[in-house]
Amino acid sequence: MHVRIYELGEGVPEVAVIGAIHGDEPCGKDAVERLVEADIAVERPVKLIIANEQAIKAEQRYVDNDLNRAFPGSPESDSHENRLAHDLLREVRGKTVLSLHSTQSSAEPFALVEEVDAVSRAVCPHLPIKKLVETKRFSDGRLIEQAHTIEVECGLQQSDSARKNAYWITRAFLSATGVLSAPIEGDVEPPLSLRQRDEGEVIVFQMLNQIPKKPANSYEVFVDNFQQVNTGDLFARADEDRYTADQSFFPILLSAHGYEDVFGYAADRVGTLR
Ligand SMILES: [Zn+2]
Repeated sequence: MHVRIYELGEGVPEVAVIGAIHGDEPCGKDAVERLVEADIAVERPVKLIIANEQAIKAEQRYVDNDLNRAFPGSPESDSHENRLAHDLLREVRGKTVLSLHSTQSSAEPFALVEEVDAVSRAVCPHLPIKKLVETKRFSDGRLIEQAHTIEVECGLQQSDSARKNAYWITRAFLSATGVLSAPIEGDVEPPLSLRQRDEGEVIVFQMLNQIPKKPANSYEVFVDNFQQVNTGDLFARADEDRYTADQSFFPILLSAHGYEDVFGYAADRVGTLR
């Protein structure tokens, strides 16, 4: 077995938390380990999972290919991540899942779901996030396509704040799903930036297009994620090529170096949850 699993409480868990789908995003692994060490008393059983230990050890996003593009996976595959995807899906199928990630694009935490459904409608307003992204037709191979999964980008990759955010987002998720009812002994208050966002309105965005980038030596982006880019605005550069918007959009997961062949995604604002 290549997946590290902790089960807390009695009975079959209907709730799960996954850290380290990507080996170079340690925030989720740290959050899971911190909860396990806290020896919490749970109201309902929960499964806590550290997904890709081999990639963590290698300090790489993945060993053979991106695990979050490999679902549903295959037990017979030569690829480590394809086999892992199969094992992991078997562990979480039918459960309400929180999957913890971090990013190069946004210090502020936000959530992603394939499509807003009853689970995300019930849980997301209780998480310390202000923004929820529907990935829609860009869900291929992601865990969110397969299970009732809420992915959260907890902050900037390998930052201390992403690590703290991951822990408090997980705490909020476990409260929202009825796993935890009392504060954990010895816990201090969450960071002020998260407390201010608690229990507010969540703005929902929907991914519309990928923003391709051509091979170049240097890349730059000139706009902020989730801030509207207007028609004609300059938003990115690849060497001397300048990219201007031919229609207005909201950039999501936009960064100079986050992905190999896309800057990120263009989205629209489609509603709010509260
Ligand atoms: Zn990730």
